[in-house]
Amino acid sequence: MAAMLQPQIILLKEGTDTSQGKAQLVSNINACTAVADVVRSTLGPRGMDKLIHDDKGSVTISNDGATIMKLLDIVHPAAKILVDIAKSQDSEVGDGTTTVVLLAAEFLKEAKPFIEDGVHSQNLIRSYRTACTLAIEKIKELAVSIEGKSLEEKKSLLAKCASTTLSSKLIGGEKEFFASMVVDAVIAIGNDDRLNMIGIKKVCALIVFAPLCCRYGVVLGLCFVPGGNMRDSFLVNGVAFKKTFSYAGFEQQPKKFLNPKILLLNVELELKSEKENAEIRLSDPSQYQSIVDAEWNIIYDKLDKCVNSGAKVVLSRLAIGDLATQYFADRDIFCAGRVAEEDLKRVAAATGGTVQTSVNNIIDEVLGTCDVFEEKQVGNERFNIFSGCPSGQTATIVLRGGADQFIEEAERSLHDAIMIVRRALKNSTVVAGGGAIDMEISRYLRQHARTIAGKSQLFINSYAKALEVIPRQLCDNAGFDATDVLNKLRQKHALPSGEGAPYGVDISTGGIANSFTNFVWEPAIVKINAINAATEAACLILSVDETVKNPKSESAQGDAAASAMGGRGRGGAFRGRGRGRGMRR
Ligand code: ADP
Ligand code: MG
Repeated sequence: MAAMLQPQIILLKEGTDTSQGKAQLVSNINACTAVADVVRSTLGPRGMDKLIHDDKGSVTISNDGATIMKLLDIVHPAAKILVDIAKSQDSEVGDGTTTVVLLAAEFLKEAKPFIEDGVHSQNLIRSYRTACTLAIEKIKELAVSIEGKSLEEKKSLLAKCASTTLSSKLIGGEKEFFASMVVDAVIAIGNDDRLNMIGIKKVCALIVFAPLCCRYGVVLGLCFVPGGNMRDSFLVNGVAFKKTFSYAGFEQQPKKFLNPKILLLNVELELKSEKENAEIRLSDPSQYQSIVDAEWNIIYDKLDKCVNSGAKVVLSRLAIGDLATQYFADRDIFCAGRVAEEDLKRVAAATGGTVQTSVNNIIDEVLGTCDVFEEKQVGNERFNIFSGCPSGQTATIVLRGGADQFIEEAERSLHDAIMIVRRALKNSTVVAGGGAIDMEISRYLRQHARTIAGKSQLFINSYAKALEVIPRQLCDNAGFDATDVLNKLRQKHALPSGEGAPYGVDISTGGIANSFTNFVWEPAIVKINAINAATEAACLILSVDETVKNPKSESAQGDAAASAMGGRGRGGAFRGRGRGRGMRR
């Protein structure tokens, strides 16, 4: 038996954490704290950015918690949970990704001394969950509704929410400009549940489109045009995409139409040699002309059908050749071939047309329309722009700026802002930001803890203390004296009248200010989701007291040893190191 157990030790890679119980928990907590330390300095309007580059030479500069966490490529199994909550916060609500990681790590940090003192983690988990429920109830109570306001009022309130999100980003300097653009885009899309599933896609290298996709098609797009000033960015109430490859004759086509009919095709409009489709044998050379004529007739027939449909703009996913381009030009029709599939889908969704796979029988219903179609020069690029689309539910932001990395970060920041405005529009409740809401919940929980007899009082107090990490970090990142500001905040929030509740960190003076009247707002849903997710993650990590590494992922050496031992021995040996249970088997 002893001889059998001998090789079992090499099951574990060198340096693998095999500790259990308290030691394992503490090590997990340390790993999470280390991860949070990476993103810590990015929080808030004075937060710093991170430059991450990989061995392939791609460089990303970002302030977004989820992006940084994703790129960090964390391997620690417990710390990975933090990556997951950052990602889920990003997809659920779109903002508060740094917040969620910081909170989770701080909850764990506060739990650490208790764990070291021998408190059972289940006790902590129970208290944390209670505290979380209380905190969320309190947020809901404090949240202010923006429902029932006129569209104009709502727009300006939403723009303020968006500019709070943008203030911490690279494009913070132009936050008003972009905030109103974001609000217009979101309002153009409407309160449509088609946006439930939002993802970001990159289509081509030259201009990167980042359309927000949805179940039925793509609704909102961001186009990047390198060069130009940020302020040259603009919003299209419809679809825009870069001009596709074109043939001679294209320049003779008109470039602007009012209320055109739009034909969308998945058909090749090129002169094709029919010898590829069929084998033709001729006995008389004079018949050759008839074959050539037939080929021309096929394409002319197709083109005539397109023209007869009444369409003024013809788009095709496949090529539109030089013959067709000239033919359309002679008849004052605009055409574009090789349009990317996503763009064609968006044009279809926006203009109400349907993509046709044949040119036969084109009825009016399959044609789309829009108020204005125009081909426009934007910087070095030319864009096909469809604006004033009847289906309405599309918008495209054409983003301009200097370096690629800058534009990409701007896109991520706009994504945050878009999500926030959408959430605020949908849930329409906001809370005071700048750490105000965190301080207020913290005060409330401390007050509540005093009414509890027993150990839980201490745990809830720790939870309350952990929440203060947000204002503290905001101060640290701005170079303020955190202790000083936090004391002022505590004193203000402790006022019995409750008038101090909206007070948070004043990022411009280093003191405290009423976040609500300063329009530092955050949608309540961001805070609720962040606290929920962070508590869940903390509880999850606290409930793990042993890491069992799957032997399959071990090195070849480990594999060989493992297979020599057989399955049952492996498990026993692993446990045996800690508790000696393997020996009894
Ligand atoms: P996250 O990824 O968590 O959204 P951010 O870097 O966007 O991180 O920072 C958000 C935090 O910064 C929030 O707590 C928000 O209240 C705060 N904040 C944003 N703008 C301001 C401001 N002008 N003054 C004070 N705090 C602000
Ligand atoms: Mg943010």
